[in-house]
Amino acid sequence: MMYFMKKETLVTTIGREPYKNSGVVNPPVYRASTILFHTLEEFENCESGDGIYPLVYGRSGTPSTRALEESLATLDGADHAIVTSSGQAALVVGLMGILSHGDHVLITDNVYGSIRKFCKYELARFGVEITFFDPMIDDITPLLKANTKMVYCEAPGSLTFEVQDIKKIAKAAHAHGAVVMVDNTWATPLYLCAKDVGADITVHSCTKYLSGHSDLVMGLVTCSKKYFPQLRRVFRNLGSSPGSEEVYLVARGLRTLPTRLKQHQETGIALAKWFEKRPEVAKVLHPAFASCPGHENWKRDFKGASGLFGVLLKPYPHKALAAMMDDMKLFGMGFSWGGYESLMIPFVPERTASKWKHDGICLRVNAGLEHIDDLIADLEAGFKRLNAAA
Ligand SMILES: *Cc1c(COP(=O)(O)O)cnc(C)c1O
Repeated sequence: MMYFMKKETLVTTIGREPYKNSGVVNPPVYRASTILFHTLEEFENCESGDGIYPLVYGRSGTPSTRALEESLATLDGADHAIVTSSGQAALVVGLMGILSHGDHVLITDNVYGSIRKFCKYELARFGVEITFFDPMIDDITPLLKANTKMVYCEAPGSLTFEVQDIKKIAKAAHAHGAVVMVDNTWATPLYLCAKDVGADITVHSCTKYLSGHSDLVMGLVTCSKKYFPQLRRVFRNLGSSPGSEEVYLVARGLRTLPTRLKQHQETGIALAKWFEKRPEVAKVLHPAFASCPGHENWKRDFKGASGLFGVLLKPYPHKALAAMMDDMKLFGMGFSWGGYESLMIPFVPERTASKWKHDGICLRVNAGLEHIDDLIADLEAGFKRLNAAA
């Protein structure tokens, strides 16, 4: 692999070997459950060798999965990658790969909501102690306990966009012997190398920018040699492998990731600037803006901003919000983000360790790839309906 290449070039070359496949540009899709062995000896020894990476059965991987994993590990600057059935499954592999009964985990209070649920309803049942911390905490050292095994960051949070000081948090965690896991979905491997700021385990939802077309659900864990065996074991034992079609589509999505991200960034910033000037808006939450909590961490650590940001409106009656949202032409209302189409949803942050201070409406905006003028026209009409119904 040619590691010296720029990432724009790298994504067009990784994970494919055309001349091993009749010159066909893209790698084939392997659909497999059974994988045959030539001899009894091969069959009997199929789990030996490193014992963690064999192609023995569809659930443990196929040549397409391996090619994608190698591509994603390279892109994320990691030794290894594991692709999973969803981003949620990838985070669960990270948590269960490290934490055991009696251990303690520190989790940022702006964490992805479904992981908060996993911790509350599942992890706690297995005797893991969970403490949420203020994403803008100055020093996590006082929260570290003798049994703290992991510190979990998500920067910026995908609803409220606080950018943690991962470097400082990781330094304190490592001094204590704790593992640092980072959900890096917002920035992608292109705009933050989480390993470089102290992550031992990095997780991405491939559902978002990595695939980019709102047509699949898939996840990714990357890590160093040290943690790979245990994470790989948990992955296999959970059985959370991705489908062959998803693997192909994520590999395809990677080819255009830098190009798409550039546009998402540009449109996101332009929309955020537009929102900032509107009288309906109390505050914009965009990591690239000085007004965003943790902006200085974004500036220090990140190479760019993706297209997801928050908008806090002044107080409006619920019916006014409905009048606006129900008739948006380009901004769809639905979960997920990172696709080519713009989205906008209202949200209510869930907090247990820090206070959420805004009492107006919170919106999350996914800047898609449409022309900025059309998006602004849609928003202008939306705000007109908001005001008319207020
Ligand atoms: C969507 C998302 C996830 C979960 O990913 P899925 O692929 O939907 O399971 C995790 N973290 C963040 C920040 C996300 O936005």
